[in-house]
Formats: sequence, C-alpha cells, structure tokens
Amino acid sequence: MYDSIRGTKDILPEESKKWEFLERTIREVARLYNVREIRIPTFERTELFYKSTGEDTDIVQKEMYTFTDKGGRSLTLKPEGTPGVVRAFLQYSLHKKRPFHKLFYIERMFRQERPQKGRYREFYQFGVEIIGSASPLVDVELISMVMNILERLGIKGTYVRVNSLGCDKCRADYRKALKEYLKGKLPLLCENCRRRYETNPLRILDCKVDAEKLTDAPRMIDFLCDECKEHHRIVIDTLRYLNIPFKEDPTLVRGLDYYTRTVFEFIHPSLGAQDSIGGGGRYDTLIKSMGGPDIPAAGFAMGMERMLLAMGDREIEEERPVLFFVALGDDAKRLSFNLLEGMRKAGVKADMDYIGRSMKAQMREANRLGAMFTYIIGEDEIKKGIGILKNMGTGEQMNVPMDVEEIKRRIS
Ligand code: AMP
Repeated sequence: MYDSIRGTKDILPEESKKWEFLERTIREVARLYNVREIRIPTFERTELFYKSTGEDTDIVQKEMYTFTDKGGRSLTLKPEGTPGVVRAFLQYSLHKKRPFHKLFYIERMFRQERPQKGRYREFYQFGVEIIGSASPLVDVELISMVMNILERLGIKGTYVRVNSLGCDKCRADYRKALKEYLKGKLPLLCENCRRRYETNPLRILDCKVDAEKLTDAPRMIDFLCDECKEHHRIVIDTLRYLNIPFKEDPTLVRGLDYYTRTVFEFIHPSLGAQDSIGGGGRYDTLIKSMGGPDIPAAGFAMGMERMLLAMGDREIEEERPVLFFVALGDDAKRLSFNLLEGMRKAGVKADMDYIGRSMKAQMREANRLGAMFTYIIGEDEIKKGIGILKNMGTGEQMNVPMDVEEIKRRIS
C-alpha cells in the first residue's frame, strides 16, 4: 500500500464535481471577457524562473522542484504561470500576429512549501495575462473579472488590496529613500532581509518576520512620478465607480520581482492565515527583460483550492441519470446492455447494474442515483419483447417495447 506524497492531493468524485463547477464558471466568465485559453508545459528550463520570477524571491530561493534530467539539463516544475506564458508568447512571436492578447490558463503549479490548510506542494492556479496594453483600465478589468467569478461562485466578503509600485524611473528614488531608512534598522532584521538590502530592498517590506518593525518605512505611493500617479488615480477611480470593495495598502509589494505600477491581492477574511486567494499586477518591463520587445502587460493568478475553500460547503448538484435499467438473468442483462448503449448514442444519461444485484437492490440503486426512470426487464418481459418503464417520481408504470426510439419518446 502506498500513500500520496505530502502536500499533494487526490480529488475524489465527490469533490471533483465542485472542481468541475469552478472550472466551468471560470471558462464562462473568461468567454464574457473575451479571454482565450493557453496551455503551457509542466516543466521549463530552470533559468526561465531565475530570469522572470526573480532570483531573490522565496519561490526561486526556497520552493522550486528542480531536477537534472538524463540529458544533464536543469529543469523545474513550474511554480507559477507567467514565465511560461511569456516564454510561449515570445517563442511564437504572438505580438507579430496581433498587438493585443488576452490569455487565461488553468494549470498545476509546484512549490516545496510547508503544507497546511490551503497550502499544498502541488496546486492549481487559474491565471490571466493581458499583453500589449499599458491602460489602467486593463488593470481594473483583471480585478473585475475575478470579482465576477467570485460572485458567481457564491463567494462573499472578498476585497482587494491595491497599491502601486511605480515604474523604473520613480522606483529608483524610492529605493534610495528606503535604503536610507533601512540602514539604521539592519541589525534588527532577519538574515534574509539583510541580504536583500543590497539586492532588492523593496522585498524587505514583504517579509513576514520583519513587517512589524517597518511600519514607519517610507511609502512608494508618496514617490510616484506624474504618469504613475495618474495611472493609479484612474485605477482607484474606476474601482470605486464599479463598486468593487478595495483598500489601498501602501505595504503591499507582492512576492515577485517583475511587478510595476498596479499590484493587487484578493483577500478572503474567513481563510485565516492563508487569506489571500489570489493576486497580480502590472509587469510592463518583464517581456523586454526576457529578451522580447518593449510590450506592457498585466495579469493575476488565483489559487483554485483556496477559491473552493472560500466556497465552503455549498452543494453542487450532480447531473442525475435519466434512465436506469433493471434486469434479472443473463438474457435480460444482454438486452438491457444493447438498449443502454442505444440510449447513450441518443444522448440520454443512462446506466445499469453490473454487480449481480437482486431486482430490489437494483431499484434501490436507481433511487440512490436519482434516476428519473427505470426500465425493467424480467423473464415475462423478454417473452413479450416489452419492458416496463417506471417513472420513479410518480411511481407510474407503462409497457414500452424494447426499442430505443420508443423508450426515448416516452421519457422525454
Ligand atoms: P502567487 O503566485 O504566490 O501570487 O499566488 C497566487 C495565489 O495562488 C495565492 O493567493 C494562493 O491562493 C495560491 N497559492 C500560492 N501558493 C499556494 C500553495 N502552495 N498552495 C495552494 N495555493 C497556493
């Protein structure tokens, strides 16, 4: 007997109906927003994540499943979707086909984190990347799309934390001011943050260990250049106009290196320690830094397990079989099987007993499955070539010839 690996999870049928509902809802809303699907590989060159996720992030530093394959290449199971999507975008020169792209993915991600409720080592993310526009309306469209999905899923109480991280230009000034401020605090900070002081001081604000000590740090929002300020103003005004619940949060920096201007995170308070169900932001310089043209973009990723947790116990109706064949004896079984196949070809959800149940037990099974009709074939019925169709709701019975078209006519 083997167990699954810690941090991985089987999705059994009772749960998978919720997954199916979740995915259906996502796809439906993606369609409304005119966002098209992209599917990317499970593993990529390790370098890709160093370059795009960022060398100094927790993901790259501590969490990647990296291995050397038989060809001696270093490969990594994808810990997030954006690097692969951007790699594919550039590999197939999608920008030469059209200047503007809206893409979504539903993919498995892999991170070697400490497993706990809402945190796994293999998990699903639904993400969107909108590539080719610098418009602040795109940032809001991303947020509104998520809120729309959450609403359809019946998830209430989510709000958005929003901040701006500025652009390369204004961030340089901020970085200077932040370093000046942090200088005196260095001995108090954790080892990780002391290292980041030189490589990426902004990330220090994201540190869970040191957050308390840095509440009076200078804020990026006070350093925005005129263009970034205007961009942020439009985002905020539009969120307000759309009645999307949000909080401006100058401490939000997000864990990845590539964000510029707008960053956001979706918070669902009932999830406790893992209360972030997703997040994202603008990444105007990433594509260029990966060797591509200078194309602005923005995106988000939602944790699908957390979306399901936030849905709570909401029951998802399973589609019931329309028809269950109840048959006794080999001949009756064979006849049922032929009719059963015919019903399915005719588009009717149907089933029969395969484990030698008694008539009574077969009726019970039909009830348990919620079948709307049973079609009963016993010895007498075989002789006459006519079976009994029973409406399980009303109890009403009628004789119906053993013919797919006839049966279909009576049940529809
Ligand atoms: P990130 O890519 O880190 O911004 O994560 C985006 C969302 O993915 C988070 O808000 C979570 O909902 C989800 N997520 C991240 N890491 C995990 C994990 N280890 N297990 C389950 N969900 C995760």
